[in-house]
Amino acid sequence: MKRIAILGSTGSIGTQTLSVLEKLEGFEVVAMSCGHNFSLFEEQISKLRPRFAASVGRCERLIDKFSEITFFSGESGIEEMLEASEVDYAVIAVSGATGLRFSLKAAEVAKRICLANKESLVCGGELLMKRCKEKSVELIPVDSEHSGLFQLIEGGIRPEKIFITASGGALRDREISQMQNASLRDVLNHPVWSMGSRVTIDSASMVNKGLEIIEAHYLFGYEERDIETYICRNSYIHAGVSFADGMVKLHVGIPDMRVPIAYSLTYPYRERILDHEEVTSVSLKLEPIKSERYPALCLARAICGRLSEQIAFNAADEIAVEAFAQERIRFGDIYNIIEKTVSAFRDQKPVDYSQILEIDRLARKLARKEVQKCY
Ligand code: MG
Repeated sequence: MKRIAILGSTGSIGTQTLSVLEKLEGFEVVAMSCGHNFSLFEEQISKLRPRFAASVGRCERLIDKFSEITFFSGESGIEEMLEASEVDYAVIAVSGATGLRFSLKAAEVAKRICLANKESLVCGGELLMKRCKEKSVELIPVDSEHSGLFQLIEGGIRPEKIFITASGGALRDREISQMQNASLRDVLNHPVWSMGSRVTIDSASMVNKGLEIIEAHYLFGYEERDIETYICRNSYIHAGVSFADGMVKLHVGIPDMRVPIAYSLTYPYRERILDHEEVTSVSLKLEPIKSERYPALCLARAICGRLSEQIAFNAADEIAVEAFAQERIRFGDIYNIIEKTVSAFRDQKPVDYSQILEIDRLARKLARKEVQKCY
C-alpha cells in the first residue's frame, strides 16, 4: 500500500486524480487539502475518510462534523499535514506560486512528488530540483507534455533537442488584431483540453507554454534554445525529442489528463485508465507557432533560467488573469501587465524560499498597480 497526500483535491487535477485512484489498486489516500471549496471537499472527505485534512481557509463546520479526521488550516497547516501524515507520495495539484512551499515540504517528507504545479519549478527552479536530489525524492511530472518528455528521455541516449506542443488555445484561429479584445467566454472555450480556468486562459495567451518551457528547462536540463514548441491542433502529440542522426521520437496519446496523472502514480508501470485508447487514424501534424501572435511566449523564452524574472512573470500573470477572469481588464492587457512587471526585476538570484517569497510579493504589488492603470 502506498500512502498518498493530494494537495488541491477540489481542483481540476485533484478531482481527476481521485477518479484515477478509483481505478488503481495499492493506494490509500491518507491526507487531502483544498483551498476554499468546502462543499466539494466535504463530499470528498466523507467518501474517502482520510486520516488528515487541511484547507487554506478554516472551516469550523467540517472540523466539527468529521471529528475522527485531524484537521489543519492555513498554508502552514498544509505543511504540518504533510509532516504528520507520513505519506509515500504527494500529489501537488494546487494552482499558483504557493505550490512551491508544499513541493519543498513534500521533498523533505515524501518519497515521490507527482508534480502538477508548474509554478514550483518556475519559481523554485534549482532549489526544488536540488532538494529532491539530496533527499532522493522522485519528481514525476504530471503536466502532459513533461510526462511525455519524461517517458521519451528516460533511460536512453540523450536527445539533442526536445519539444513540447500547444493546442494553440481558444484564440488560435482569430485574427491577431482581434485577440486583444477577446471576451472571457471566448477565452474559456478551449478547443481540446478540459482544465482549470487559469490554465485555460494561459493557453490562449501561451503564457502556459512559456511556463512549460521553463518547467522543462529545470526538469530535464535543456537550454531554452533546445526546447522547441509547435502547435498540434488535436493535442495527440504531447512532446517529442530529436537525435543527432535526425530521427525524432514522438509521444502520442489521447489528450486526457488522467493518463499522465496515472503514470505519475504507477511509474515505472502502466495501468489502463481509459476505455478508449485508439490513436490510429488521427492526424499527427505539427505546425510552427507564429511568435508575433504570442508575445508572452517570447518573453518567457527571453527570461528562461533567470529566477527572479520568472517569479515576476508568474506573479504578474496570476494577478492579471484574476483581473481578466473578473472582466476588469482586456485580454491584451494580460501581456502588458506581465511585461511591465518583469521589466522591474533584474536577476537578483534568490537562494531560499523567503527570498523567492519576497520577490513574488513585490511583483504582485507592482502587477496590481498595473492592473489599476488599465481601467
Ligand atoms: Mg501542459
